[in-house]
Amino acid sequence: MNAIRVKLKNNMFLTLVITTYIVLGILMPSKAIQSLNNSLYYIKEMLIIMPVILILTSLIEAWVPKKSIEKALGEDSGFKGSVFSFLLGSFSAGPIYAAFPVCKMLLKKGASVSNIVVMLSTWAVIKIPMLVNEAKFLGPKFMAIRWVLTTISIFIMAYITSRLVKKEDIQMDDILTNEEELMLNINEQYCIGCGLCTKISSETFVMENKKAKIIIEISKLEENENIKTAIDKCPAKAIGYKK
Ligand code: SF4
Repeated sequence: MNAIRVKLKNNMFLTLVITTYIVLGILMPSKAIQSLNNSLYYIKEMLIIMPVILILTSLIEAWVPKKSIEKALGEDSGFKGSVFSFLLGSFSAGPIYAAFPVCKMLLKKGASVSNIVVMLSTWAVIKIPMLVNEAKFLGPKFMAIRWVLTTISIFIMAYITSRLVKKEDIQMDDILTNEEELMLNINEQYCIGCGLCTKISSETFVMENKKAKIIIEISKLEENENIKTAIDKCPAKAIGYKK
């Protein structure tokens, strides 16, 4: 029962969506079918776009050195870094959700939070193909004024976000990284204190105050079969690796 509760807690958004569909299906079946069709349309679109984006992200991850990204988009890249992020976002193509894996990889490789905000925001609201269409339908004057005001807002937002959000606040451990940089970690909030991990690998885990703890620091490179099993069997999915 506990495990089901934790699973639901760990997938709150998905649980909420499924519950909404069930309620909608009971109260307004025709709306539920319409919503389901819309969702399927977007899922289909994502399945076409995301593989390309993930391949592109992996290529940048593998081929572009960390130092180059730090220099171009890092904390010390200054005004040039902001302009570069702005241009990357402006000349991008594809829906905004395609930008998230790219931006997360850039963050991990040294881009600053403010430059990521600039890139994401320009990608979302002022990329070139969008501006061309905007000018066609709403007129060049409308497009130009909106562009100027949006650009000013983007730089203000980037500054405020970089003050409020630090890189440590962003979870990075699901991104490919050097195995020696990833350390075994227990998310105490998720741990339900069942003690299973200590039984599977007593040389790695110990119970303290009803929570599992790691006895000595272990990197992903040093992972053994027992640790793999403990990660796999942990009912709360509380064991993993963190940079
Ligand atoms: S980390 Fe260990 S003690 Fe905590 S829930 Fe997972 S298996 Fe149980």
